[in-house]
Amino acid sequence: MNETFRGVDNVIGTASDEDKMYAEAKVENNFRGQPDGSAIFPDNSRVVEVKKSETNQRLITLTGQVVRNFLDRLGYQSFEIPPENVHIVSGGDLRTRHIVGKFSIFKQGIAVRDESIKTVLLDRLIHEELHFQGYKAIQSDENEDSSKAHRLGLATYSRNGEKLYLDPLNEAVAEQLTIAAMDGVSDPSIDREREQTQEARNQYSHLKKEDGSDLFDNDVIYARHFESPDSKLDIRTERYPYKQERELLQLLIDKIFTAKEESLSRDQIFHYFTDGFFKGNLLDLGRLVDQTFGSGSFRRIAEAGNDLEELKNTIEDL
Ligand SMILES: [Zn+2]
Repeated sequence: MNETFRGVDNVIGTASDEDKMYAEAKVENNFRGQPDGSAIFPDNSRVVEVKKSETNQRLITLTGQVVRNFLDRLGYQSFEIPPENVHIVSGGDLRTRHIVGKFSIFKQGIAVRDESIKTVLLDRLIHEELHFQGYKAIQSDENEDSSKAHRLGLATYSRNGEKLYLDPLNEAVAEQLTIAAMDGVSDPSIDREREQTQEARNQYSHLKKEDGSDLFDNDVIYARHFESPDSKLDIRTERYPYKQERELLQLLIDKIFTAKEESLSRDQIFHYFTDGFFKGNLLDLGRLVDQTFGSGSFRRIAEAGNDLEELKNTIEDL
């Protein structure tokens, strides 16, 4: 396995080379000497680090192994993320803001919200570690104290830091890879939940969601039924996140696949996205999209920003 620590892959901006070097060193120093997990949410002062249970510790170790083996199989380099750089947190307004995890390039750590369903926790851990292993660039225009994030995987900030491009596709790639990496993972806590889920699936496979689609679609990672006191059926289900984003990525890949008259397989097309995610190579992806749909197409996709409706329209119009 390739042991290349990459805390920051690139520093862009107008600062001098020396200042850029300092900026990079300052960030990478945080890799050792981790602050408390609450530091990953500087704008959310009531977030606290939770002491890791034995199961959580085991799942954090497992995550490191799963992610690195997975990246090895895909042919990407990875580095060891020490357990100290992985934080379990709770509190603040994480729940109301639906924040389940975060990778901080500046703190060089990840934090995930504590969760009793361990399959869900594992999904979050793998997802955030993939961000950590992804391409990371900062922008430094003056000195090391003025640095800001520039690239995280495919997601790219505008120079003034106000707009974020390609974030939905970035999340889609991260979660798509997470789903693949989760396949076959085993831990007593995960195996137990998998059995409960299979029982519920066997028993209630006929149930529909409010919109008429199957409750037990492929995205269900956990399900369990409860007998409520009034003997009404109560089923808790958990799903892989970023469904809409993943559907949009799939739509884009399908459109390229068809327009290219199947000269590239879907896997080969997805590889352009993962190369952007892990190696920072957006040029080849941009060229593929522009050569397929006309110049300016990739820019239009990027400029949809975080507006999923606009992104959907843009991809459909290609
Ligand atoms: Zn993410």
